[in-house]
Amino acid sequence: MEQTFIMIKPDGVQRGLVGEIIKTFEQKGFYLRGMKLVNVERPFAEKHYEDLSSKPFFEGLVEYIISGPVVAMVWEGKNVVATGRKVIGATNPSASDPGTIRGSFAVEIGRNVIHGSDSVESAKKEIALWFPDGTVNWQSSLHPWIYE
Ligand code: UDP
Ligand code: MG
Repeated sequence: MEQTFIMIKPDGVQRGLVGEIIKTFEQKGFYLRGMKLVNVERPFAEKHYEDLSSKPFFEGLVEYIISGPVVAMVWEGKNVVATGRKVIGATNPSASDPGTIRGSFAVEIGRNVIHGSDSVESAKKEIALWFPDGTVNWQSSLHPWIYE
């Protein structure tokens, strides 16, 4: 099944949103395959966001991501990449639909609480970067109650 990389950014951790965010993905019916709390080093943050290195906000973005611990996670499930992006909401919280994570919990684009991979291909890259030792394979006994 498909996997995505989800990161609760430093503001999400500081604001005590870790449990709420995990709950959202868990209750939807996705499986947690990997999770760690980490202080990100600058070169690692730059690598994670390398596609955005030419953007004017890149420096500020890197400062933001290294400003405190983040929770890095791998979630698995049917269409989890696209559905995860919907659950997270639009990049700018002013445009995020109510009920999405950013729509509910964020105001500023540079304090938007959470990251989610934007495609299956970037999910693979990000998971390999953040979880080089692999993830944990398990299946919930509720599986047949969630998936046909
Ligand atoms: N960002 C920003 N200013 C912008 C655009 C993006 O500070 O004008 C930050 C924001 O935190 C965003 C991150 O850079 O989540 C990565 O940008 P991307 O376009 O990949 O948005 P995302 O995939 O996170 O929705
Ligand atoms: Mg992105």
